[in-house]
Amino acid sequence: MKNTVKKFPEALGELLEISDISTANIIAIHEHFGVNNINECSTIVNSGQLADLKGFNAIKVENIRRALKLAKENHFQLWEALLAGEEMLRAVKQFPEVEKAALTGSLRRKKDTVGDIDMLLQVKSSLRKHLVYKLTRLPVVSRVIAEGRDRVSLLLKNHMQVDIRLTDQKRYAAALLYYTGPVWYNKWLENQAREKGFLFSATGLSDLKSGKNIAVEAEEDIYGQLKMAYRDPELREDEESIITAAKYSLSSLPTFGEIKGDMQVHSNWGDGEESIEHIAHYVLHVFPHYQYIVITDHASNEKTTGALHPENFSRQHQEIDRLNNQLGFNFIKRGIEVDILEDGSLSLTDEQLAQFDWVIASIHSRFSHDNTSRLVKACQNPYVHCIGHPSGRLIGKRIPSPVNWNEVFEQAATTGTAMEINARPNRLDLNDRLVKAAIKKGVKLVIDTDAHTLPHFDFMQLGVWVARRAACNKHDILNTGTWEVIEQFKKNKIKLLKKDN
Ligand SMILES: [Zn+2]
Repeated sequence: MKNTVKKFPEALGELLEISDISTANIIAIHEHFGVNNINECSTIVNSGQLADLKGFNAIKVENIRRALKLAKENHFQLWEALLAGEEMLRAVKQFPEVEKAALTGSLRRKKDTVGDIDMLLQVKSSLRKHLVYKLTRLPVVSRVIAEGRDRVSLLLKNHMQVDIRLTDQKRYAAALLYYTGPVWYNKWLENQAREKGFLFSATGLSDLKSGKNIAVEAEEDIYGQLKMAYRDPELREDEESIITAAKYSLSSLPTFGEIKGDMQVHSNWGDGEESIEHIAHYVLHVFPHYQYIVITDHASNEKTTGALHPENFSRQHQEIDRLNNQLGFNFIKRGIEVDILEDGSLSLTDEQLAQFDWVIASIHSRFSHDNTSRLVKACQNPYVHCIGHPSGRLIGKRIPSPVNWNEVFEQAATTGTAMEINARPNRLDLNDRLVKAAIKKGVKLVIDTDAHTLPHFDFMQLGVWVARRAACNKHDILNTGTWEVIEQFKKNKIKLLKKDN
């Protein structure tokens, strides 16, 4: 194609995200039938109308049908699936027949989107039938898809599917490991086991020669028998994460408890719902280990609702000072989220940015364009400390901007600019794959919730999972450090930029 800049209607996000259907085909279907999303597209495909379109032969139509089905199967956001899965888990644990229960599959690996909820239950053989009967009659169930001795598949009223496996005490540890998957990891484990004289399967670990079963209580025991270090479920996704993980002592994967503050928070001075006072008191009560929060309202030189006008900067700062005085320490930091404009310049001047402790620069327009140069230019601004939601993706709605990430991460590393892991359930941006690429270049990351209401602060854990899946070390995450560490990071940026000139 002559045109090197990719451009497409933003509404087509979820369709364009399907890698097995070409952009040209999506555009053709969209233009001919006016479809904008997976459901509409499926209807056209299933009705047989697609075959009428020029260039769409039977094989192509079948491939598209299959790709759509797969995309449909993988479209629940981790957060909503986790809430439904944990609710189900709590309900199931109430049954006296259930001795142990856990979520497995991609939900346990904390993948950003999941197709269904997988669950493993430990139950005495003699009580299985009884339990299956109860499971199929839970009030959240809308339909029983399949039921057998070891497995029950249910469709919930929220349209999610739950696959429940039943096992006994002897097989539970192996089953937990096996059903956490993914498939390639089980194959890899089976090979590792075989090389060491064992047979590993969903039903247990046994001696390859004698066939004798080896008693194991927990996943850790299986790794122990195989003389391997335990691998967290988040690190079982691909071969690369195993290699990366091997470099670190596993205890250094970041944890929620190590996060010292939230660095993107919106108040009612901008488009957030709560006053800074409410936010500060809430966070101090709910997350007593946090040492700081950064209020980062949107700013605009135009008088628009939902954004802070520069004439109000000093009033907001006075309010922050008043509250910090009341609290007795500088818990609340002055931050701002500034727009990266189309030419890569910012929506505020350097003099305006200099008034803040922490500046996040984000793209809020033209997501479908190659945004490499905008991001690079923002990194070069001495007042910009972090790039917010760098890829701009909205899961299932908007695909990541086409960006040369090598170039952006190199620029972030040489200018000492951090990249955000935005922990909102529909963003998770950067995602695990891009975080992995960023830390390879030495880029520091900040995990933020981008909170606009009080319950949003809980999203922090989602961002921590992204970092863990990327095999981050806690030192890759800037906000595992104290505010002194962050001040140091800012000073370092100025030093790096001076050296460059
Ligand atoms: Zn933003």
